[in-house]
Amino acid sequence: MLIIVFFIAHWYLSLFFQTFFLHRYSSHNMFKMSRFWERTFFFLTFIFQGSSFLHPAAYGIMHRRHHSYADTPNDPHSPLHLTNIISFNWATVVEYRKLVNAFMRGERDDDDVPRWYQLERIAESPITRTTFILIYTLIYFKFATEPWQYAFLPLHAMMGPIHGFIVNWFGHKSGYRNFDKINDNSKNTLPIDFLMMGELYQNNHHMRPNNLNFAFRWFELDLGYLATSVFKKLRIIS
Ligand SMILES: [Zn+2]
Ligand SMILES: [Zn+2]
Repeated sequence: MLIIVFFIAHWYLSLFFQTFFLHRYSSHNMFKMSRFWERTFFFLTFIFQGSSFLHPAAYGIMHRRHHSYADTPNDPHSPLHLTNIISFNWATVVEYRKLVNAFMRGERDDDDVPRWYQLERIAESPITRTTFILIYTLIYFKFATEPWQYAFLPLHAMMGPIHGFIVNWFGHKSGYRNFDKINDNSKNTLPIDFLMMGELYQNNHHMRPNNLNFAFRWFELDLGYLATSVFKKLRIIS
């Protein structure tokens, strides 16, 4: 039971920092925050994504490319052009690693994406990633009560990219559309997105990419937006 709680908590915490910090903040600059809070959320993204930490600047630049070229051959990850799951993920990883390497080697330094050089070096190190995997394994050793529960262990190690895959694959492949006039294949995968905190309203988001609320119809619910509204009320972001 405790292992299920650990899995659900890790799923939503990792996801929250992906949608809040990497997507809505780093990629789209949807809100502003002080340097103190930027560092705080950067650090928490590192802690909760752990072994599968995604570099905020590389994520932001790759995601902007996705919006500019959505579902064209220049889209870094479109299920319309990369039609099997392996080539889809491979192309995404290759493109993403190229950007991470360019940032880490100092070959590019865009100033409108959050950077924290020291923490990036620690987070990107194989020693750090391995340490996180060891921590997940120890938690399983301590709290798993049935052998089948170990099947979930690899998901912890790859949490960030798994979330990215679900959004990029299903969000441009399966679901309904509220806006047919946009020229891409974006879909709203779930009418009530309890699974990905609003990220699965890709059709709404591509239609209105700077709108903080990804929900549009009365029944749609963007949990990422609701959480972000709390930070706004607390004046942590503006
Ligand atoms: Zn998209
Ligand atoms: Zn976006």
